[in-house]
Amino acid sequence: MTVETQKETLGFQTEVKQLLHLMIHSLYSNKEIFLRELISNASDAVDKLRFEALSKPELLEGGAELKIRVSFDKDAKTVTLEDNGIGMSREDAITHLGTIAKSGTADFMKNLSGDQKKDSHLIGQFGVGFYSAFIVADKVEVFSRRAGLAASEGVHWSSQGEGEFEIATIDKADRGTRIVLHLKSGEDEFADGWRLRNIIKKYSDHIALPIELPKEVTAAEGEDTPAVEWETVNRASALWTRPRTEVKDEEYQEFYKHIAHDFENPLAWSHNKVEGKLEYSSLLYVPARAPFDLYQREAPKGLKLYVQRVFVMDQAESFLPLYLRFIKGVVDSNDLSLNVSREILQKDPIIDSMKSALTKRVLDMLEKLAKNEPEQYKGFWKNFGQVMKEGPAEDFANKEKIAGLLRFASTQGEEGEQVVSLAEYLARAKEGQDKIYYLTGETYAQVKNSPHLEVFRKKGIEVLLLTDRIDEWLMSYLSEFDGKSFVDVARGDLDLGNLDSEEDKKVAEEVAKSKEGLVERLKAALGDSVAQVRVSHRLTDSPAILAIGEQDLGLQMRQILEASGQKVPDSKPIFEFNPAHPLIEKLDSEQSEERFGDLSHILFDQAALAAGDSLKDPAAYVRRLNKLLVELSV
Ligand code: ADP
Repeated sequence: MTVETQKETLGFQTEVKQLLHLMIHSLYSNKEIFLRELISNASDAVDKLRFEALSKPELLEGGAELKIRVSFDKDAKTVTLEDNGIGMSREDAITHLGTIAKSGTADFMKNLSGDQKKDSHLIGQFGVGFYSAFIVADKVEVFSRRAGLAASEGVHWSSQGEGEFEIATIDKADRGTRIVLHLKSGEDEFADGWRLRNIIKKYSDHIALPIELPKEVTAAEGEDTPAVEWETVNRASALWTRPRTEVKDEEYQEFYKHIAHDFENPLAWSHNKVEGKLEYSSLLYVPARAPFDLYQREAPKGLKLYVQRVFVMDQAESFLPLYLRFIKGVVDSNDLSLNVSREILQKDPIIDSMKSALTKRVLDMLEKLAKNEPEQYKGFWKNFGQVMKEGPAEDFANKEKIAGLLRFASTQGEEGEQVVSLAEYLARAKEGQDKIYYLTGETYAQVKNSPHLEVFRKKGIEVLLLTDRIDEWLMSYLSEFDGKSFVDVARGDLDLGNLDSEEDKKVAEEVAKSKEGLVERLKAALGDSVAQVRVSHRLTDSPAILAIGEQDLGLQMRQILEASGQKVPDSKPIFEFNPAHPLIEKLDSEQSEERFGDLSHILFDQAALAAGDSLKDPAAYVRRLNKLLVELSV
């Protein structure tokens, strides 16, 4: 009988209660994963011990053979997991098994819909870990002691997975954690050696330390009960150390779930061993789905770092650039020192060369995915495209490679879908087209219907339509792809180069000359609102348009800067008009300077609206327009 002292009952954090409730109701179709989750935790705990023991060998307390044991009791309906890893102190148990430390958890919980099918996907990407024990158990007991603490500082945690848990201090001779699951009625199928063995083989074969089950043995003569013999049921070698050809896809997938705390299979992986000046192995995965905290600065990112097979740290961030923060995996180095720290990693030149090699591996893996599995790549782009767009700014050396991975909506792509690659765009470019044309804006509807596209539609030239918040910023880092430069069709004096015939150009010049008078009148009427007035060759249907000056900030960048409280340099648009449009013809022949002024301002304001901008003086616009309507109706 264990003696319990300092017994108290504590409540779970609200998020834990929600998670527990949801898990029990949404993961019932895949109950057996509880074992994978608990084994995964035990394996992490052993990794942590192994690492801490490097500098404090006394933590091993003489017992250096690290392992996990799974046993069961058919009569008592229990399944027990025991590890001799780092263990938990009383405080550890209260925080780790009573709260969820992940940033953004509360927001995540708010996103749950109550629709069990949908939520079970969400919960998959969140990772359920320890609490999954309550899928099969109506009472869970944890006996643990942190390595290095006295035997009297063990902890007994127990809960029925409802609102609260009990905690008490106990004596525990061995360091590490024992978890006893009291199976719910109807779940006693799990108290079975054959079943447990199969689950372990299926999900945890890749775990690098032995997972043992009791062997069925008959009692020796003269004894009532046989002595328990243990048998290792998993392969128990680090997966990344095995040759690629010997690792099955399922094993790669299960290993991914273990390190990424994800329920879904990854989209792709890349497993490599590097020998020579630097020696290391890496196993990198592309997840199928974005984690809920992809855009939170504090969200965990980075690889699991091992040095000569010994786990050293989680979330080692120095091995990949920030725009690849969604990549999961392990890197195992033979060159680093076992007591390497985050600070050292940041400065070590070895890390720099590993980082550029690993970055290239990831980009190659994505190229391969795009080429071989275009449908899957579409899904990848939906989830991670926005993050990939941070790439050209962060990773100058790989700019061209990253540009090749970008996908855009376009005037010729699927409606509003970001599916067109730059290579595809260039492959179907018009003869003589040596530019990549694009237009940025707030929404797809707005850019799709923008007057800026009129001349491109007429000539059948494809234009990329960019409406993500960071697109304009992205384009400021991309000057060319495959030797062809990018041209913002709303910017400067659009020069279509070879796409305009000599004939076109001559006509345009003549028209411009004949409209010099109108240009002057418009300049006088619009005054300070414009930087310049000129005849447009962008338009076929609309009367007028606003172009951005070659060096000026676009609307999106202006809005981002304004929102972040920065001072935005003042810039005025260029007013371009379509000389062939009936409204412009009417304007040209307008005798009354007052009406000329009103009409010019209306055209100017309309052009601003079409560009997605807001009006400086909306009331004046309404007044002028109404005045005109009244005159029309009399
Ligand atoms: P996660 O593993 O994603 O952190 P869990 O809910 O599975 O989340 O576990 C919460 C924490 O409880 C772990 O991070 C760890 O600190 C602690 N823990 C769980 N199982 C063990 C164990 N077997 N030994 C030591 N600590 C454990």
